[in-house]
Amino acid sequence: MGRRGEGEREREREREEERIMEKACRDCHRIIETGRVVCKCGSNAISRDWSGYVVIVDVEGSEIAKKLGIKKEGRYALKVR
Ligand SMILES: [Zn+2]
Repeated sequence: MGRRGEGEREREREREEERIMEKACRDCHRIIETGRVVCKCGSNAISRDWSGYVVIVDVEGSEIAKKLGIKKEGRYALKVR
């Protein structure tokens, strides 16, 4: 993990309150924008019960992206129940 990743996480922590209302997709783990009921992947298996927040800025160089099978940059949840 490089320094760029650290800074990214720091910035996101400021948005903690906003995040509470957000939901995550059970299929691709993507964080769904507030108000949306269908994920960009087409799934409507959306859960509010998720934990672990990760911002993928470089899919090719990210171990987490590889582990989760993420193929696009974006905001994801590590665990979705
Ligand atoms: Zn999805």
